[in-house]
This record gives sequence, C-alpha cells and structure tokens, in this order.
Amino acid sequence: MMPKCQARIPDATLLDYWARDLADGDETERVEEHLFACADCSSRLHQLAALGTGLATLVRQGRVSGIVSRALLNRMQRDGIHVRLYLLVPGETVPCAVFPGDDLVVAALRAEFSGVAAVTLSVTGPGDSPNGEIDDVPVSGPAGEVLWATPAAVVRQMPSMRLELTLATAGAPHAELGRYVLEHSASTPPS
Ligand SMILES: [Zn+2]
Repeated sequence: MMPKCQARIPDATLLDYWARDLADGDETERVEEHLFACADCSSRLHQLAALGTGLATLVRQGRVSGIVSRALLNRMQRDGIHVRLYLLVPGETVPCAVFPGDDLVVAALRAEFSGVAAVTLSVTGPGDSPNGEIDDVPVSGPAGEVLWATPAAVVRQMPSMRLELTLATAGAPHAELGRYVLEHSASTPPS
C-alpha cells in the first residue's frame, strides 16, 4: 500500500511540471525534490505522462479544471487550445457564455494580494447554494490573479444562472478580497 501524501502537489502544478512550464527554477527544484521522495505524487505524474497525449487532448477530455497557472494558460493558448477567458475585477458582474469550438472557459479573478500568501475561492450558485470551494490557492503580488478553469463541455450543460465567486484569505478568519459575478447565459449569443 502506497503511503498517502500529506502535502500533495496540486494537479495543475504537476501539469505545469510535465509541460516544463513552471514559472521559476526554484519551483521546479521543489517539485523535483518532492517527487523524488514521494511515491504518491510521482505515480500521479506518471499517470499523466502515460496518457502519451498532448495537453490539448487532456483539456478536451475535461481533465484540466480548477485552478490553473498563467504559465499553463499561456501554454494552452500556444498549443491552439480554444480558451474563452473572462477577466473580472472585484465588484464586477460579467456576462458569460460558451461558444462553438471553445475547449475551456477560464475566469481570471483579479485582486489586490499584497501580504497574502494563499486564498480560498468559493463558488455560489442560484439561491446561495454552495457550488464548491477551492482552498489554499497560492497567490503573489499586489496585482495578482486567480485563474479558475471549467471544461467547455461542462459549461455547455449548465442552464442560464448567476454564479457568485468570492476570494478570501485562506485560513480563519477569512478576510474577503473580492466578490465577482458571472451571469451565465445558456444560449450562445450571435457572434
Ligand atoms: Zn507527495
């Protein structure tokens, strides 16, 4: 039985590492050290690599979702993956839809992250129904961003609805950093 890792490398970071797209050498070194010592995470990396497919295939299979890095986003765009990107600043309501040919929908949430190391992203659906929470998302810099990805195939199944996204500092007590609204329309507007 493989010992379960207590500090798992996030899927998105493994993907970045696999795509040789980690932002800096220090992070590559940290990941490599961890993989060397951790059978759990290295087996996850091998599963990714064993697919023997490109990033585009992973995205089209719906395997890329949740928090992604700017480096991975750039790589996807370079690889010809159709990313529908919505930029939001705190307090903003943005209409969103998925178009034919889109592979991935990404909400780029901007906020002021000075002095903040990690954040929690909460997603709330209609009637304040909780729609998920992603904890301990690392952030850096005063003009930082959190990139939240959803496979286009998943978004195509969604009815028209209002999604509220909230970023708060990770760990109690949560201090709110930004609140954003995606006004999702199920019908594709004429382009
Ligand atoms: Zn591990």
